[in-house]
Amino acid sequence: MATKFKKCMMLCCSAKVSKEEDMGSESYEEAIAALSKLLSDKADLGSVAAAKIKQITDELEAAAESTQFDPVKRLETGFLHFKKEKFDKNPDLYGALAKGQSPKFLVFACSDSRVCPSHILNFQPGEAFIVRNIASMVPPYDKKKYSGAGAAIEYAVLHLKVENIVVIGHSCCGGIKGLMSIPDDGTTASDFIEQWVSICTPAKTKVKSEQNELSFSEQCTNCEKEAVNVSLGNLLTYPFVREAVVKKTVALKGAHYDFVNGKFDLWNLDFKISPTLAI
Ligand SMILES: [Zn+2]
Repeated sequence: MATKFKKCMMLCCSAKVSKEEDMGSESYEEAIAALSKLLSDKADLGSVAAAKIKQITDELEAAAESTQFDPVKRLETGFLHFKKEKFDKNPDLYGALAKGQSPKFLVFACSDSRVCPSHILNFQPGEAFIVRNIASMVPPYDKKKYSGAGAAIEYAVLHLKVENIVVIGHSCCGGIKGLMSIPDDGTTASDFIEQWVSICTPAKTKVKSEQNELSFSEQCTNCEKEAVNVSLGNLLTYPFVREAVVKKTVALKGAHYDFVNGKFDLWNLDFKISPTLAI
C-alpha cells in the first residue's frame, strides 16, 4: 500500500509543481519538501498551506486504501479468518488431518472461480480430493499427454481409495463455449485451451448433430452435461478405475451446477442426462 500510495503522491505532487522542471524524477518525500518550501516562502500562508497539504495527503491515503486492491492483505486477512474461525475452533478435525487424509470423493471441477466444490457442496477439509481444470474434463488414459490428470486419478483411486468419482460441469462454462466455437475445419487460435477442451469433442459432435435446431446458448448448456458424460467414459479408460468400478469399490457420478438458477443435478454412470437428484 505504501509503495503504491507513494507513487500516486509522486504523480500528484509532480503535477502541482510542474513548472519546476527538475521535480519529475524526484522522490515523493523530496517533492513534498520542495512543495512545502515553495509555499512556506510566503510566510503568511505557511500554516494554511501545511494544513492543506495534510488534508490532501489524508484524503489521498483514504482514497488509495478504499480503491486499491492489496493481494497480500487479502491473503493475510483470509488466512487469519480461517485460522481463527475454523482451524483454532476444530482441533480434533485438524489434529486428525495432520496425520493423514481419507477422502470419500475424487472430484473434477472447472477452474472457474464461481464453482469451487468446497464452497458449493460444503466439503470440509479431508472430504474431497479435487482436480480443477478448464471445463472440468477428464482426459483419456495417456501417459505422455495427460500425466497430470492420470497421476491424480491414480493416487486417489489406488492410494486414497476414494469411493466416488464425481465430474461436475457448470452453467455458462467458458471452456465448453470455447469447445463449441472451434470451427469445423479445426483451426485453433490458442496455444493450449482449444486443444485441451477438444478432449470432449464427442460431446460437441453429439449436440451439434442431435440438437441443431437449438440456439447456440442452449447447445452450450447441453454440451456442458454431455461433456461430463464423455469424461465419465474417459475415466473407464484407466485400468485401475475400470477395475474398481467392476468391483463396485468406486462409483462414478456426473453432475451439473447451475449458478444462474442455483441448481445442482446429479446422475449416475448411465450416460443419461435425466438426473437422479435435482436440488
Ligand atoms: Zn467452466
